[in-house]
Formats: sequence, C-alpha cells, structure tokens
Amino acid sequence: MNNDNILEIRNLRKFFGDKRALNDVSFDVKRGSITGLLGPNGAGKTTLLRIINGIMVSDGGEALINGTPASLETTSLIGYMPEERGLYDKMRVEDQIMYFGQLKGGDKKRLRVVMDEYLDLFNLTADRRRRVKELSKGNQQKVQIISTLVHEPELVILDEPFSGFDPINGQLLEELIDRLHKRGATIMLSSHNMPAIEEICSDIALINKGNLLVNDSIMNVKENNKDNSLLLTTASPIDTNILMDSGVITDIRTTKPQNWRKGEAYRIIKAEGKSNMDLLDEVALQSDILHFEEALPSLTDIFLKYTKEENQ
Ligand code: ATP
Repeated sequence: MNNDNILEIRNLRKFFGDKRALNDVSFDVKRGSITGLLGPNGAGKTTLLRIINGIMVSDGGEALINGTPASLETTSLIGYMPEERGLYDKMRVEDQIMYFGQLKGGDKKRLRVVMDEYLDLFNLTADRRRRVKELSKGNQQKVQIISTLVHEPELVILDEPFSGFDPINGQLLEELIDRLHKRGATIMLSSHNMPAIEEICSDIALINKGNLLVNDSIMNVKENNKDNSLLLTTASPIDTNILMDSGVITDIRTTKPQNWRKGEAYRIIKAEGKSNMDLLDEVALQSDILHFEEALPSLTDIFLKYTKEENQ
C-alpha cells in the first residue's frame, strides 16, 4: 500500500451477463486530492463507485481504502452520495441527518455540531423541523449532501452532486467542497459538468466503455494535450494576410473573445521555430495587444478527444 493514496483501484472487472461494465480498471486517488471521475453515459462510473462502497461485488480485482479491501467496515470512512437519491419522505430534516450519521457510527454530540454547521451553510436552519417531502427538490438535495457528510468521512464520494441545483446552490456546494478539502478530506466526484470539474478538481480519472483512458492532474492532462495554439486579442482588427505573409504563423482564425473581453479575438497557430516575441512584434506593427496566452485545451476538448479516439 502507498500511504499517499487513500484509494487504490486494482484491476477491477465487472460483467452484467456478457456486458463488460468495467474492464481491468486500475488507478489511484491521492490523499487530499479532489478527483473528478469522468466518462460518457454508460462508461462504468456508477458501477465503480458502487464497488468502492461495498454495495456491489466485483468479478475480479479490488478496491483498497487506506489499504483495506472495500467492505461494509470501510464504508464508515466514506461518505457516498449515490446518483439515485434516497431520503425518507416523512422524516424530519434533522432526524434524517442524525439517522444517517449514526448509521455510519458517528457520535451523537459531534453529529449535532456538524449538522448545525452544514444546515447553516446551506441556509436550511429554519427548515430543520420540516418533513423532507415538504422541501423543494434543491433543498432535498442539500439534506442528502449533509446526510452524506455529517459523520465527517475521510473520503467523500459524490455522484452527480450538481444535478438539480441552481447556480446559487451550485456555488454553495463548491464552497462546501473547498471547506472539506481544507479540513483534509479527499473528494471524488462524478459529473458531466465539465466547467465545474475544471474549477474544483485537482485530478481526473476518465473512463469510457469500462476502460480507464487517463488518470492524472488536470495540469498535466492539459499540458500533455496542448497544440501550438495561442489566443490573441487586439484593440483593432488586424490584416491577417500580412501576418501570414510574415511567416510567424501558419494559421489564424477569428474567435469568441476570451472572458468576453472587448476587442478583436484570434486563435493562432505559431510557425515552428518562431518565438512569442517574434509574433507579438509583428502584431504590434498593426494594433495594440490587449491579451495574449497559450491556448490550453478545455476539459471538454480533452474528454471529446479521448473518447472519440477510443470509439474509432
Ligand atoms: P451514467 O453517466 O449514464 O450514469 P455510468 O458511467 O455511471 O453512466 P454505469 O451505470 O456504471 O455507467 O453502467 C455501465 C454499464 O453497465 C452500462 O452499459 C449499463 O447499462 C450496465 N449496467 C449497470 N448496472 C447494471 C445492472 N444492474 N444490470 C445490467 N447492466 C447494468
């Protein structure tokens, strides 16, 4: 066991009849990381999360939590919010949260302190005595999240936590994840919301058709997938033919302004052997430069690239 990893997935396989849901998947989740589990519909994400949580048994391989194979015992270390939510409609909010916390072995007094903090964070204090069925869908989702976290798990696993949330509650969830992370928890979340993953996560694991395609820090994944593209915004339009003729670029296209900055935006491919300075000198002959950066691929670009390659 490597102590840097809270979770080690080793050659996991799972079949449903002759359908292969997980095909020899191996990867690690570093302690203290925020890892995004990505993959198209049907990739095997939920199956993987169920095995990690001891809800489903694999057909081979293992999931180790702090070096111990996933079982009912290791589940107290984990806070898992499944994709299909499961609250008791008629139970009152605070009873529900305490019930789930105690199921995971939490101490009553401590559970109350943590519950109060999270009810306050999610603006639910006034609703604590209401029955779950009386709450809006978004507020029920908040109760589900608090029930997942109230026993202060080391490893927090959230399956599609943003679904059903408006942008305000999405922001609150991001704040909560940040708070958990600062307290030392490791977070793994599955989502199709690429901008949110890009904003929150330090690492990703991408699976498709039961195969692991990439597991690395977002920084490395972006760096390893970048091309020679640059983004440039100028104060006034430039004559792109002049720039092409100068030999510093091989392609130029107008594009959407980055962050809706005013000016004229271009995506450029720099010519081999030319420096950024060579390019900027040429552009500056025509206009003031407002913004210039290396264009790194977005997570959506990376997701599409890897899954398309595998589908070919
Ligand atoms: P989504 O993003 O749509 O939630 P996912 O990545 O979570 O998808 P899984 O739910 O793990 O994907 O499904 C992986 C594959 O296994 C799919 O082809 C699915 O149809 C199949 N599968 C999952 N659970 C079962 C089951 N209980 N019985 C039969 N097939 C299943």
